Amino acid sequence: MLVLLLLIPVSVLAQVATQVGAGEEGNQRTGQANIWHDPSGQATLADALAALQSGSFSPLAGGGSTGLQKGSYWSYFELHNTHQQALPLHLEYVDHQLIRLQAFARGESSADFLELVDLAMGEPFTQRPVFHNRFVVPVELPPGETVKFLVRYDSEEAGFVFPSMRIWTPDALSKSHTGETAILAFLFGGIALISLFSLIVGITTGDSSFFAYFVYGISKIVAWGTILGFTHQYVLQQDFHWSYMSATGAISILCGVVFDRLFLQTRKYTPRLDYILILMMVNAGILLISAILQLKAVALISITLALLLYPASTVIALVRWRQGSSEAAVFAVGWTLLLAGLFYQALRDLGVVDHNLVNYYLPPLSSFVEMVTIMAAMGIKLRRVRIQALESERQYRRHLEQSKVKLEGLVRARTEELEKAKQLAEMEARTDPLTGIRNRRSFLADAELCIKRAYRQSEPASLLMFDIDHFKSINDEHGHGVGDEALRQFSAAIQTKIRETDVFGRLGGEEFALLITESRPDSLHTAERLRDAIAGIRLPTPAGEVSFTSSIGVAHTDNDVSVEQLMRQADLALYRAKQQGRNQVVDYASDADTATERRLTTSDTAGVEPA
Ligand code: GH3
Ligand code: MG
Ligand code: MG
Repeated sequence: MLVLLLLIPVSVLAQVATQVGAGEEGNQRTGQANIWHDPSGQATLADALAALQSGSFSPLAGGGSTGLQKGSYWSYFELHNTHQQALPLHLEYVDHQLIRLQAFARGESSADFLELVDLAMGEPFTQRPVFHNRFVVPVELPPGETVKFLVRYDSEEAGFVFPSMRIWTPDALSKSHTGETAILAFLFGGIALISLFSLIVGITTGDSSFFAYFVYGISKIVAWGTILGFTHQYVLQQDFHWSYMSATGAISILCGVVFDRLFLQTRKYTPRLDYILILMMVNAGILLISAILQLKAVALISITLALLLYPASTVIALVRWRQGSSEAAVFAVGWTLLLAGLFYQALRDLGVVDHNLVNYYLPPLSSFVEMVTIMAAMGIKLRRVRIQALESERQYRRHLEQSKVKLEGLVRARTEELEKAKQLAEMEARTDPLTGIRNRRSFLADAELCIKRAYRQSEPASLLMFDIDHFKSINDEHGHGVGDEALRQFSAAIQTKIRETDVFGRLGGEEFALLITESRPDSLHTAERLRDAIAGIRLPTPAGEVSFTSSIGVAHTDNDVSVEQLMRQADLALYRAKQQGRNQVVDYASDADTATERRLTTSDTAGVEPA
């Protein structure tokens, strides 16, 4: 074997030994210059040495990644210790995803390549010689010596391999790792805080997109933590499998799409584009299942498809923005930043661009920036929802106020109506429907008051009682209608001749009464005047004009007597007027005794209706 290796012409190897010293801080990389692909993944050290000897090793064509390939890659490199002391070094594999890494070394004094490490993702983390989320190979270079290395990178059925190692002193790597971990902890902490905040907002507003964002944030922490190797380093140290990376990634994609659909309300506003998001969810489901079933090829296709479908969310967000959703514009920015990070990493994975720390950390960083940006979009949404709520509350209040005013108006109108109806009813209760003057009850009440007022003011009071003469014959000869008209004309004639303060009413039938505050002579004079006026009424009938007369009984008082008493007296006088031939005025006081006597003897046949 030694002979074989010594025969290797130096010219076939693209690199001479890398010079290393005591100040290695990861700036130097080695491994890419001499690469051999073993598609079977079964090659042994001897096979690799044979390949090396036959000149099968060649520089890596791409920028850092082999691209998606089956099997193993072998890398040959030499490190020359320029230091005059033994130099311990840590050779760190540049990426976090590798199924297995095996390293062999041969010093100047050694006869053969010896295995340094055999690291596998599935092995317990505690078996790693260096506590780091990426594979690290510890080596020690004797002073001034050149050590030859053969490193095997295994990706099994398919995977991206970065056949490259960063060279560190153990101290420098430890410091760098601590710094990196701190920065990632800061980013994860930020995402955790945003998620928690989102959860609180979700609880207070009841908006489901905030809950979805909380779950999405947590799923991101779990996914990135797993993909970058921290879950294996700190949580699942004993059992870890590459499928965990795919599974957590799938869940995160699923949560992201669920959030997108809720936040952008795609089902409602962009129903056709929504199908793309549903396709993304189905694809994430396939990725999850392929991860559980450990179908690496399916998982890789699914991840690629997921990446290709990612821009759909930006397109949908832009469409929603054009529809007038300002938060969708901010969402588009956040999602585009995430896309940029993922695509740049995809270019790195495919070997199009060289591997470096920037594109290595761009996806988690852009994921963090996306989280912050979308939180801003959520803030805009929250503000819009609040403004909407305030506006609808204002409208509700305005509506309520209007209803109140309307109701008050209705109540007022109704009250007025009722008041009017009540007044009308009261008026009707006081009024005789045929003539429109006071009825008996109302006359008695008003006359009573008038007598009392007159007495208080030391004024006299006279009551005139009317009974139309032979009224029955008007009805009989000309009909009831003419009789009614006679009653109306009678009332109208009296009303035009009296004062407003006089109390006039219909006692019933063709009997009327009038209370006036006049002295005896004046009241007799008024009675005569009214009797004349009545006699002057002419009723037009088909048989020619009809006239009628009225007998009037007058009673007088200067004292506080009751209206009933005054009416009884006037009634007696009226009776006498009828007896004496009708169409005349009789004063009760002129012959009270006679009147009383006659009333007593002929009460059964008297034409006076009872008071
Ligand atoms: P006298 O001169 O003795 O008073 O004779 P009279 O016919 O006027 O008296 P009587 O009491 O016999 O008749 C009164 C009539 O008045 C009888 C009734 O039919 C009539 N009458 C009562 N109320 C009304 C009414 O509202 N309309 C009409 N058209 N007639 C009425
Ligand atoms: Mg009569
Ligand atoms: Mg009568």
